[in-house]
Amino acid sequence: MRIDIITVLPEMLNGFINQSILLRAQKNGFAEIYVHNLRDYTEDKHRRVDDYPYGGFAGMVMQCQPIDNCITRLKAERHYDEVIFTSPDGELFNQPMANNLSLCENLIILCGHYKGIDYRIREHLITKEISIGDYVLTGGEIAAAAIADAVVRLIPGVIGDDQSALSDSFQDNLLAAPIYTRPADYNGWKVPDILLSGNEAKIKDWELSQSMERTKRLRPDLLDNYHNDE
Ligand code: SAH
Repeated sequence: MRIDIITVLPEMLNGFINQSILLRAQKNGFAEIYVHNLRDYTEDKHRRVDDYPYGGFAGMVMQCQPIDNCITRLKAERHYDEVIFTSPDGELFNQPMANNLSLCENLIILCGHYKGIDYRIREHLITKEISIGDYVLTGGEIAAAAIADAVVRLIPGVIGDDQSALSDSFQDNLLAAPIYTRPADYNGWKVPDILLSGNEAKIKDWELSQSMERTKRLRPDLLDNYHNDE
């Protein structure tokens, strides 16, 4: 999978994508992630990418030209499954969306800044708009990082133990069960006996009942979906 991220703050993303799982995924050939500095695509001699909004509104707006130029150049090289814009009014990002995006070959993620981007870009070039939550960030970089991370870790082979990504919270509309590591007794804080029993069937039952209990208590809304999917 290839992800092209377009931003006015490339350093923010270069740091993030060259750590941990995203770095390993790139080194092992599972993902290519490119960060494009939008200012490299402007025709303005001062490398400006924003201007005042029509209508006298507050804030600055990212102009069509640099964004169009960058996306058009990328699209001339290969087909993109989606051209994503990060936006607080987009579709709320969740695990099923991450699962679907992980099946794509090529993705563009455009990070907004300032007041946002000229609406004509959204009408003509963007195919999918994603929000990472009902709050407003200063720019789309954290959203792009969240999307890239959630999507790339799902590509088979990226995470060592293939089961690991599938057993995470949300994959079956249930929250994950509690987890523990050694020692079994830490200053009197004990690991549940069942996990030390070696009885795999009982441990699986325990895991499911813990998942159920925690989901019921912390995220009852997920259980509606759990039953619908049965
Ligand atoms: N004026 C816009 C907010 C601009 S915030 C509005 O009211 O909707 C600047 C940029 O940060 C946005 O263009 C978007 O790319 C990014 N951003 C802010 N909050 C976000 C969120 N919850 N999810 C995804 N991107 C977000």
